[in-house]
Amino acid sequence: MLARAVAGESNVPFLSISGSEFVEMFVGVGASRVRDLFTNAKKIAPAIIFIDEIDAIGKKRWPGTGGWHDEREQTLNQILTEMDGFDNDTNVIVIGATNRSDVLDKALLRPGRFDRKITVNLPNQADREKILEVHARGKKIEKEVDFKALASSTVGFSGADLGNVLNEAAIISARYNEKMINPARLQQAFERIVMGLQKKSLVMNEDERRTTAYHEVGHALLGKLCKHSDPVHKVSITPRGGALGVTWFMPEKDAILTSKAKFLDELCVLYGGRASEEIFFGKDMITTGASNDIERATAIARNMVMRYGMYDEIGQENFAGERGMGNYTGTEGERPYVSESTQKSIDNKVREILREQYERAIKFIKDNKKLHIKISEDLLEKEEMDRAEFEAYFS
Ligand code: ZN
Repeated sequence: MLARAVAGESNVPFLSISGSEFVEMFVGVGASRVRDLFTNAKKIAPAIIFIDEIDAIGKKRWPGTGGWHDEREQTLNQILTEMDGFDNDTNVIVIGATNRSDVLDKALLRPGRFDRKITVNLPNQADREKILEVHARGKKIEKEVDFKALASSTVGFSGADLGNVLNEAAIISARYNEKMINPARLQQAFERIVMGLQKKSLVMNEDERRTTAYHEVGHALLGKLCKHSDPVHKVSITPRGGALGVTWFMPEKDAILTSKAKFLDELCVLYGGRASEEIFFGKDMITTGASNDIERATAIARNMVMRYGMYDEIGQENFAGERGMGNYTGTEGERPYVSESTQKSIDNKVREILREQYERAIKFIKDNKKLHIKISEDLLEKEEMDRAEFEAYFS
């Protein structure tokens, strides 16, 4: 939208292409598409070229394997060649957009290429309300629809996500032959965008359903017991978009800073799933369902130690480098020098933090076994629980 607005303000043509379009192309097609795009732009210059999702082609390069890498490489090289070919008379401006500026190939960011960066922060509540109003233009919407309420429950949504909610609501309304979007359809659309499309076809067996229910209730229960955790918005064991279950937390207000206490509670909540599996089904019956939780927990703990300087014994020093999540997957930028002994204390500290929070999760769950069973068995039956239904167990 910003790129389009720039073109509008400058009164020049706007040519756009999305990086993800190249993902499924045959080798060579992407590069020739880029060539055509730049040729056209130069012909009608002054003009603005907009490349959306530039990270899809501009990721850091790896020693090549397979067709897709070759294709991406060729496309990326073509963009770089075109941009380097600009001279002072070329009245073409290239704008790229990405949610992952941390993974971009450094070659893209050199002077003369994408050398200026504008960070567009996520909209706050007031912004979200206005953005929803913009996307609502041209759509028929019932008076009862409350954008203010929707704005307050869409913390963390980008402008595009908000646009998707309204588009989805329009599609659902059309399917029901309704002439106007009503609040119920908007709510449906909202949930669909947030959790991915319901995949009823993904059938779980009874054991998996039970494990998933206890796992998710573990997250929810700890979310309730840890006082720095965001409140539970919904618990579900309806499979959606690849996940068997989901516990969804909703921050009560927009927050930018995160405290150490909040991180620790987050770790505890993340381990609530695995801890429940262990307690209710036994150490040998723990499942792969916790892998994403463990991945996230590890990244948080590493960041606390290596990036945020939250542990005096390690120090207020950056050990992770300037980019990425410090998650050791090798995708982050250059890492500062870390001596072997420091590395060892970092590793030990991270392990200690994670172990402490796992044990805390175990204790919380042991202390609340009865309630846990009650909620889990209810969830097995209902499949979904909203905030009010969940809170009712604690009143
Ligand atoms: Zn989980």
